[in-house]
Amino acid sequence: MSRYLNPGLAGLESYTPGEQPRDMKYIKLNTNESPYPPSPEVLSAVNSGEAELLRLYPDPETTVLKDALAARYGVSRENIFLSNGSDDILNFAFLAFAAGGRKVWFPDISYGFYQVFADLYGINAVQVPLREDFTVDPSDYCSLPDVGGLICIANPNAPTGLTLNSGQIEDILKSNMDKVVLIDEAYVDFGADSALPLTKKYDNLLVVQTFSKSRSMAGARLGFAAADSQLIEDLDKIKYSTNPYNINRLTMAAGVAALKSDGYFMDNCRRIMETRAYTKSELEKLGFSVLPSAANFIFAKSDRIDGGRLYRELKSKGILIRHFDKERISDYNRITIGTREEMEAMLEKIKEILEEDDNEKCRS
Ligand SMILES: *Cc1c(COP(=O)(O)O)cnc(C)c1O
Repeated sequence: MSRYLNPGLAGLESYTPGEQPRDMKYIKLNTNESPYPPSPEVLSAVNSGEAELLRLYPDPETTVLKDALAARYGVSRENIFLSNGSDDILNFAFLAFAAGGRKVWFPDISYGFYQVFADLYGINAVQVPLREDFTVDPSDYCSLPDVGGLICIANPNAPTGLTLNSGQIEDILKSNMDKVVLIDEAYVDFGADSALPLTKKYDNLLVVQTFSKSRSMAGARLGFAAADSQLIEDLDKIKYSTNPYNINRLTMAAGVAALKSDGYFMDNCRRIMETRAYTKSELEKLGFSVLPSAANFIFAKSDRIDGGRLYRELKSKGILIRHFDKERISDYNRITIGTREEMEAMLEKIKEILEEDDNEKCRS
């Protein structure tokens, strides 16, 4: 830290992204990327001459991509906001709807970035405990005392993979017409209900999605939000005050092409859901408890090996999963669903680790 840093930022604990190590080749099951490449249409869109136009700024209004998304999701252009990854939209939403003296509410176990944004803007964050079984209790959000502010819920939740249904989301929306309710749907394409259609009915709903996971484009950085046009105007105000050209040309071309290859995208989602069911049942055979997941990851714990050690042992065998050293969930690991072959390799290594432990016990 330099002596010049704004003292307000000195104590800020920033977000720790999942490892992207370069020391060797790992099977990466730690950051919920897709194991499949972007669609052939995306690859050819990026290679088809768009690169030659890089000397020119991209369209700040992102019209072509907004229109494609609006058509895909049955809303209008005015209801769509695009950004350089959905983290950017969360950032804007915290600044727009909570900074300056209001509060934000989110579950105690959820995406770690929510607390970071709250700290960044000095927002009073209320972490609402999940139930014992890690589900969100919608009624916890239905009689909040304060007026105004932001409620932020990942659905499916990360790292649990558990979901609320549309009726439960609607209960939260109805009880909080004075607050913005942000539903972070980073994983919605793997089997959950989307709240996006409810944006037509509730002007306090902001639905955030990303091309990073289900559309195999984490490296392109593309997120979008759908909401009532007035909420979108609020986000635009921040975009045009920070970075008007927030979607670069290559990403814009890739995004439009991705929406043209919906069949490819849905096939991949289906394959991942099948592999998820396979992995869950194989882990259960090895004695793991696995939460029912509607995401492209599973949250699992073993009563034979603790979460931290399983993570380290698998890493030494070339497989990366994610462990959170956090109260209530330190027994668990979050495992991204890769290809069937990758999951078979992981299961094989887990068997080895458990057998080595058993042999160790026999000897002692
Ligand atoms: C991955 C993830 C994001 C961020 O996605 P990007 O679009 O890549 O920035 C947002 N929310 C949750 C819950 C996520 O897991």
